[in-house]
Amino acid sequence: MKPLGLIDRVDLPVDKIPTRWYNVIPDLPRLPEEYIDNSTGKKVTREWLERLFVKSMAAQETSLERWITIPEPVREAYKLWRPTPLIRAVALERELGTPAQIWFKYEATSPSGSHKLNSALAQAYYAKRDGHTRLVTDTGAGQWGSALAIACQIFGLDLTVFMVRASFHNKPYRRNLMETYGAEVRPSPGDTTEYGRKLLAEYPDHPGSEATAVSEALECVDADEGTRFAVGAFSNHCLLHHSVIGLELKEQLRMIGRTPDYLIASVGCGSNLSGFASPFVEDKLNGADITILAAEPEACAPLTYGEYRLDWADSNGRGPGVHTYTLGHEFVPPPIHAGGLRYHGCAPIVGLMRHEGLLDAEAYGQVSVFDAGTTFAKLQGYLPAPETSHAIRAVIDKALECKRTGREATIVFNYSGHGLLDLGAYGRYNDGLLRDVEKEDFVAPTPSMVEGLKA
Ligand SMILES: *Cc1c(COP(=O)(O)O)cnc(C)c1O
Repeated sequence: MKPLGLIDRVDLPVDKIPTRWYNVIPDLPRLPEEYIDNSTGKKVTREWLERLFVKSMAAQETSLERWITIPEPVREAYKLWRPTPLIRAVALERELGTPAQIWFKYEATSPSGSHKLNSALAQAYYAKRDGHTRLVTDTGAGQWGSALAIACQIFGLDLTVFMVRASFHNKPYRRNLMETYGAEVRPSPGDTTEYGRKLLAEYPDHPGSEATAVSEALECVDADEGTRFAVGAFSNHCLLHHSVIGLELKEQLRMIGRTPDYLIASVGCGSNLSGFASPFVEDKLNGADITILAAEPEACAPLTYGEYRLDWADSNGRGPGVHTYTLGHEFVPPPIHAGGLRYHGCAPIVGLMRHEGLLDAEAYGQVSVFDAGTTFAKLQGYLPAPETSHAIRAVIDKALECKRTGREATIVFNYSGHGLLDLGAYGRYNDGLLRDVEKEDFVAPTPSMVEGLKA
């Protein structure tokens, strides 16, 4: 039998794990607006940031240094799975009959199965070093929570995770995974916080959202001096840590003598997109013809349908206020299966990139996304997370466009995570039950609930 010719891949040796993170902020056309403290209406102070975040994270959040050294224990932990391979999807190219080359940076080799561990390890390391005892965080489907649970276990910290209530009850596997790694997991809204109790009293079936989980996590931070909030995707420091993805990718593309025409990633808040694409922003600003494309879910697409303005990062305005693309902090996203993409806004850096014309965005319906993910799995063998499948949908559309125009483009996408804990969603798709928005499951916020959220 002749070789199948499914893939081609480019690997880096372990010593090529980056030694520094790249901070895109100093290279952007202008600086992001500063965070606003809800209680004063003024810019947040350093003390405010340090009470909320791990001390070193507060410093990184406002850093204008272009390069930040990765602490050796974090870099050593990166060796658990980094560098990640760059893989060419030859079988997909052949099936589509496109003259384009399709490559993907495969972040799913991490122990938690997604890119999220890049930042989780950094945040847990600094929390321990700075003398904090516990981290608190929010998680949607559980990707971030499970990455942070591993990281807290490695560096010896307690972790409390507020998990969106719909996922807590309906998708227990990630919860089981977090608990296996030693984290305490609570549903949001739930009865352990005042805010959670208030929401449940008013609206007993509230499905929860990332934003309610953030509100409850922040209340927990307020209540305990040794506790700090860990951010899964939104903050500047989190995006910084993911730059290892793009830095490795640059080196891998250099090895095969290619420059990207398209850089595509799914966007919930934009951490994987930013980490993957930000090291190319300077090239783009210097004239390189690179399209950076954010793939969003139609049901929750701030970059495609939102506005660039000041909004609160959580659902009750505990703060901070940030300038970014948003659908409004009171927006409760419908329960699509890409749980990691259900957030009303996006990271300020990504919002600014879009505002400055550095980023394109497109939104895709859930069914077409699963069509793409399933096609990819059948051809290439890897089963993508529903979040990742948004990027794959965009890639297939662009590759077909290249087929029509005869363009021999280099399309690179970020394979943000695997879908092996999302089989319930694949099951619904395979049984023909999946719809673009599963409307009968969607609990639209009532006016009294919105008022409750604002109060
Ligand atoms: C969390 C997550 C995303 C979306 O988050 P970003 O901050 O936009 O990267 C995408 N893919 C996977 C697998 C995720 O876990």
